[in-house]
Amino acid sequence: MKTTYLFFFSFAFTIGLHAQVQIKPLPQPGYEKRISDFISTMKVVDTHEHLETQSGWMKPGKLDFMLLLQHYTYDDIRSAGMPKQVFGKLLTDSLTVMEKWNILKPYWEATSNTAYSRAALLTADKLFDVKDLNETTVEDLSAKINKSYNTDWYNKVLVEKSRIDYIVVDGDTHNVGDPAMFRYVKRFGEFIFAVSAQKIEAIAKAQDTPVRNLDDFVTALEVSFHKAMDHDNVAIKIGVAYERDLFFDDVPKDKAEEVFSKILNLPAGTVLKYNGNEIRPLQDYMVHRILDLARANHIPVQIHTGLQAGDGNYINNSNPTHLANLFLKYRDVQFILFHGGYPFGGELASLAKNFRNVSIDMCWLYIISPSYSERYLHEWLETVPANKIMAFGGDFRNVENIYGHLLFAKQVVTKVLTEKVRDGYFNESEAIKIAQMILHDNAIRILKLEKK
Ligand SMILES: [Zn+2]
Repeated sequence: MKTTYLFFFSFAFTIGLHAQVQIKPLPQPGYEKRISDFISTMKVVDTHEHLETQSGWMKPGKLDFMLLLQHYTYDDIRSAGMPKQVFGKLLTDSLTVMEKWNILKPYWEATSNTAYSRAALLTADKLFDVKDLNETTVEDLSAKINKSYNTDWYNKVLVEKSRIDYIVVDGDTHNVGDPAMFRYVKRFGEFIFAVSAQKIEAIAKAQDTPVRNLDDFVTALEVSFHKAMDHDNVAIKIGVAYERDLFFDDVPKDKAEEVFSKILNLPAGTVLKYNGNEIRPLQDYMVHRILDLARANHIPVQIHTGLQAGDGNYINNSNPTHLANLFLKYRDVQFILFHGGYPFGGELASLAKNFRNVSIDMCWLYIISPSYSERYLHEWLETVPANKIMAFGGDFRNVENIYGHLLFAKQVVTKVLTEKVRDGYFNESEAIKIAQMILHDNAIRILKLEKK
């Protein structure tokens, strides 16, 4: 009995953990290197960033080793116990580099295991030739970062080193870089979180149109939408899974109207709580109106699903299965589900497989977990048409971490495709073709990046 188990387990490990089936002849020698060479030098499209301008970073206290740790590694350092206000000080010029390091050190030692931190280490190594973060390296790394910003740094990292053709930026700043390369997405969050009469008034002012009732409010949304889409926006972003669940009921107009007039008549200085149920009918109604506009104007919609960044949230709010009613109702709208739905990878697979208007975007995913990315890319390539997978978005505010994240992404994609060729699931040319699709061509087609 025991021997049988042992035999079974050693057999399972010999063939690897992926339950592969062989369809194609086994590959010719050297396929690993050929796939790796193709992916490491190919041009890519980056579907999601929060990138700030190069000059925006050139401020006192910003350009030192902490640059590589803000945004996501920060979440893990806070999760490891560092108070928020202490981290805030590490991003200012009130401390020297060594003072910053001494405060950070115990938290860095506690959290340097995570993929966020590993990505920072890889970035330090590959961009600045600094092999570790410690008291002997942080000053050298800081000096190198500082120096690089006095060069044509963004161009060097994004174009020369990363070979990125297009970058899609989620943010209101529209002058991040070369207009031939940069595209933008627009959120209409103010229409979903209009919790007070003052907020509605601010919208009326910004759109230069009176807002006295719900119809006016929808008109203001239309004005805002057309202004944005006349500009260089290519998609709509819905990020509300940070504040509420993703089920948007198709509520009748009178229900939404009731909430809207209640908000208009709130006493000055008071708000309708958006995490309570009271505002839901209005929010749901406005999300449907945003989707009407997306449908009429053929604009794709990116939706945050899965893990929320930051400090404490309700993961079930971001479960992509909440969205199925929208996929059914808006059959002509392209929905792009972000972040590989972490940790709802299986649910995401079934949605993208089942709905022709649903695609998977792996932005942010490799630094959340390279092994989840690997596991689910294997599974998605078995379940979802390859023209609906977009396999890279850095999701960072600075170019250094975009580069580090891209190296993660390329390693994982290379590993998955190599394994699939090794096992005869794909042949070599199919694997190369899929790399080209998921890291480049799909994003250009789905987001219509070449239209400008
Ligand atoms: Zn993001």
